[in-house]
Amino acid sequence: MKEYVIIGGGAAGVSCVEGIRSRDPEGKITLVSAEPVSNYGRPLISYYLEGKTGLDRMSWRGADFYERMRVDALHGVRAERLDPEARRVTLSGGAELPYDALCVCAGSDPFSPRFEGIETVEKRFSFTTLADALALEQAVDGDTRVLIVGAGFIGLKCAEGLRDRAKSVTVCDLAPRAMSASLDGDSSPILERHLEKCGIRLMLGNTVTRFDGGTALMQSGDTVGFDVLVIAIGVRPNTSLVSDAGGAVGRGITVNEKMETSLPRVWAAGDCTESRELTTGETGVLAILPNASMQGRCAGTNMAGGDAVFDKGIRMNSIGFFGLHIMSAGSCTDPVFTQVTETGCKKLFARDGVLTGFILMGDVSRAGIYTSLIRERTPLDTIDFDAVCREPSLLPFGRAYRAKKLGGAV
Ligand SMILES: Cc1cc2nc3c(=O)[nH]c(=O)nc-3n(C[C@H](O)[C@H](O)[C@H](O)COP(=O)(O)OP(=O)(O)OC[C@H]3O[C@@H](n4cnc5c(N)ncnc54)[C@H](O)[C@@H]3O)c2cc1C
Repeated sequence: MKEYVIIGGGAAGVSCVEGIRSRDPEGKITLVSAEPVSNYGRPLISYYLEGKTGLDRMSWRGADFYERMRVDALHGVRAERLDPEARRVTLSGGAELPYDALCVCAGSDPFSPRFEGIETVEKRFSFTTLADALALEQAVDGDTRVLIVGAGFIGLKCAEGLRDRAKSVTVCDLAPRAMSASLDGDSSPILERHLEKCGIRLMLGNTVTRFDGGTALMQSGDTVGFDVLVIAIGVRPNTSLVSDAGGAVGRGITVNEKMETSLPRVWAAGDCTESRELTTGETGVLAILPNASMQGRCAGTNMAGGDAVFDKGIRMNSIGFFGLHIMSAGSCTDPVFTQVTETGCKKLFARDGVLTGFILMGDVSRAGIYTSLIRERTPLDTIDFDAVCREPSLLPFGRAYRAKKLGGAV
């Protein structure tokens, strides 16, 4: 019987289990997770703080997933060292696990530059795990002033989660725009106005230069008083298991389209990896849930002897703040359609005759059509692109395309 080991129980790890089981119902699967709980929807942690979901409803595949899949899940245990020659992984506590095929699905950890005086801040947090959300739940009440450093999606999700629990929530960022990695100069201001209307104070193009207890001295010279600090500046892929074992890593673990690392019988998937982005052809970390899930499934299938390929990775963000829905995808550098209002926008981007990206804000319905055009690199001169810009539906597409998409019902 083949022995599989999966390191990490997030979206990639869970999908890896499913990939293995799709081909091998018998093999022995051991999943090692550093978190005391795993198999929960990480994006749900802000909804938990908002009171929109409970601990019993956060499971990614149901509480009995590991039992159903016959997985031996070890929680609160870290994989410390990988020995690809001996095909063994050493766990915290010293135990060793042998494997025939191993997948590293170790995600990423938050990082923070060294702020002067940070050690004087008594209550400081990150916001990437359920444990972070539970700790913030304890630390914040109606008298608490929260300062969040970082106006990317993690910082803003944290702000949304805490708004009704706290006295005030301020978010600052060195970048001049909210969600500057996914939005552009037309769309960010819509989000910023919406957040401010919903009671979030934004300080953009302005960050902390020094902390002194509960006071942040800002670049602008202003000071911000706070009781709880959340650092949400960014995350860094967990690559060390593979690099320490001599495997190739860049910003993430290097994998090919089959999710194989450079080490024999070692695969990797999810936020800890870097792979090729379809619209730019560039290699990078595609740290979003759908990619983690597809990569995990692909790795698991191949670990069990399959021949799956992951070659459709695109940067994508599907998120909402206080009822404002936002979807962005691909590379957004060459606009071909722009529609901006006070409360929403639609921008489409194309290069070399194919759609490369989009930003939708407000009405995000039928975004799947744009995503599909990007992934399939459909030549825009083969469809009625003007109609697709105004009102995405399958009608402007040719009969052959509709037949493919709708399984013949055209
Ligand atoms: C607040 C928040 C909101 C988000 N919202 C969205 C969203 O709306 N849409 C979207 O697409 N994405 C969103 N994301 C990103 C998404 O959650 C990640 O892309 C996804 O969880 C990545 O899955 P993963 O399995 O690669 O890694 P993770 O989910 O990070 O899982 C990795 C696991 O491996 C464990 N681990 C690490 N090292 C070891 C080790 N040595 N031994 C054992 N275990 C180890 C970690 O503890 C962790 O449990 C959000 C993320 C956060 C934090």
